[in-house]
Amino acid sequence: MNPRIAVVGSGPAGLTFARVLHRHGHPVTVLERDPARDARPAGGTLDLQDGLGQRALEKAGLLAEFQALSRPEGQAMRILDTDGTVLRDWRPRPDERANPEIDRGQLRDLLLGPLDVRWGRGVTEVV
Ligand SMILES: Cc1cc2nc3c(=O)[nH]c(=O)nc-3n(C[C@H](O)[C@H](O)[C@H](O)COP(=O)(O)OP(=O)(O)OC[C@H]3O[C@@H](n4cnc5c(N)ncnc54)[C@H](O)[C@@H]3O)c2cc1C
Repeated sequence: MNPRIAVVGSGPAGLTFARVLHRHGHPVTVLERDPARDARPAGGTLDLQDGLGQRALEKAGLLAEFQALSRPEGQAMRILDTDGTVLRDWRPRPDERANPEIDRGQLRDLLLGPLDVRWGRGVTEVV
């Protein structure tokens, strides 16, 4: 019999870990101290790097969905000096996938998927 597993915290790390466990058939429950899914703003954007964050999503079986939602163009970078002169203007190729941006709210919704999350459950002790 698979052991039941509790994951503390529904941030990107906890949810990704929980999705990997769920994908492999482990009963997993996420305990989150926030009282509800939208108790606070999800925040801005995250960039997930090839071989790091993207590798974790691949292990969770969510890489294709991440690629559909993320923005490779968000990798563009412009460096200006104090006069506003552009020193560097880097734009990614259309196929550039090194570290595309995704809205944190979209990433959270993608990761939450079928997970069993208990909101308003702050863990104070593990015995
Ligand atoms: C402005 C800004 C921009 C950033 N940009 C990037 C970026 O582009 N790319 C990147 O990789 N990182 C970025 N980071 C860092 C990023 O925020 C963290 O890497 C990421 O949020 C960490 O995820 P996490 O799941 O480990 O922790 P968190 O996101 O902090 O999630 C932890 C969760 O656990 C819950 N929790 C904590 N304690 C308990 C408890 N005792 N019981 C129950 N629940 C609990 C919290 O309520 C929270 O929901 C940025 C950070 C900031 C501030």
